[in-house]
Amino acid sequence: MDKINALKSLLAIPKDIVITSHRNPDGDAIGSSLGLKHYLEQLGHTVKVVFPSEFPNFLGWMQGAGDIIIYDVSPEEAKSALEKPDLVFCLDFNSLERIDKMGELIGYLKCPKVLIDHHLFPEPFADFELHDITASSTSELVYDFIILLADKQHLNKTIAECLFTGILTDTGSFKYATSPKLFRLVADLLELGVDDTRIQNLVFNCMEEKHLRLLGYVLNTRMEILEEYRTAIISLSKQDYEKYTIQRGDTEGLVNYLLMMKNVTMAAFIHEQPTITKISLRSKGDFSVQEIARQHFKGGGHKNASGGYSYIGLRPTIKKFKSILPEYQQALLNNDL
Ligand code: 5GP
Ligand code: MN
Repeated sequence: MDKINALKSLLAIPKDIVITSHRNPDGDAIGSSLGLKHYLEQLGHTVKVVFPSEFPNFLGWMQGAGDIIIYDVSPEEAKSALEKPDLVFCLDFNSLERIDKMGELIGYLKCPKVLIDHHLFPEPFADFELHDITASSTSELVYDFIILLADKQHLNKTIAECLFTGILTDTGSFKYATSPKLFRLVADLLELGVDDTRIQNLVFNCMEEKHLRLLGYVLNTRMEILEEYRTAIISLSKQDYEKYTIQRGDTEGLVNYLLMMKNVTMAAFIHEQPTITKISLRSKGDFSVQEIARQHFKGGGHKNASGGYSYIGLRPTIKKFKSILPEYQQALLNNDL
């Protein structure tokens, strides 16, 4: 409580604030960052949202998305925003390694840092932490943060739309990490004017024809099922990205299709990026992919959704992933839903 009061005093005077979130920002990274930005602007602060890399087009409709500074696209502008802010918010990640080169810049800053996050194992780099691994999303925690600061009256439709989007995407349309508290909170967001069906359409029903065809093609030709491990894998090479002109955002959510199969407990999407091979892991029930991502792929995340990467290339990464499956076979087979 003392810390919240200290933060409230800090926020009582207009400040230059930077909000940042993880690389490959998703709906929760953007929703929580923009929701917080709109709230802080109402308090009279000057707020810049800076991300390490680009976000998918289907989130571009959110108010304020056009003003987000992307380090990969405009490094000078990003560096200048990070030169001497009065306060930095780190949302939806908890280790500075997750924000690439920006991590070093933020590590050097002397100003107070606030962490709002729901991932396991936070690194101790922040002065204020709102951290709860039982929260559905960082957007849920931004709502809690505004309530903790006794500022419920500052919530409005714009903030609510951003937070709703983050909750919607991180829960996979209210399929994971829900709670009675979350549904009450979402009811508040709807009372603030959120049109939930409209946002569902903006986020999930906005594919271009080529995306749906790509999905069909990839499921048909790149899906491998390892029945004895209740595991399914989709892999894409650099050549696939070039040949089918696939952009990074185009494969967002692909991994989730694998879990639609009754006998699949773990899903992996392994794909080559310019310098790394990225692995996205998903699971059902009590089987945790967090440990696999952390121990074998330098990553982390949540029990049912984690990710990591390797520098060994696509084929060796697939091979490595398959080689660790026997260790988890019993857990995969015993996992009751
Ligand atoms: P995705 O598979 O959608 O990229 O990420 C799913 C979740 O895994 C993210 O919310 C994030 O928590 C985690 N994650 C993905 N990639 C990494 C990574 O490289 N490092 C860590 N620590 N977590 C990751
Ligand atoms: Mn999140």
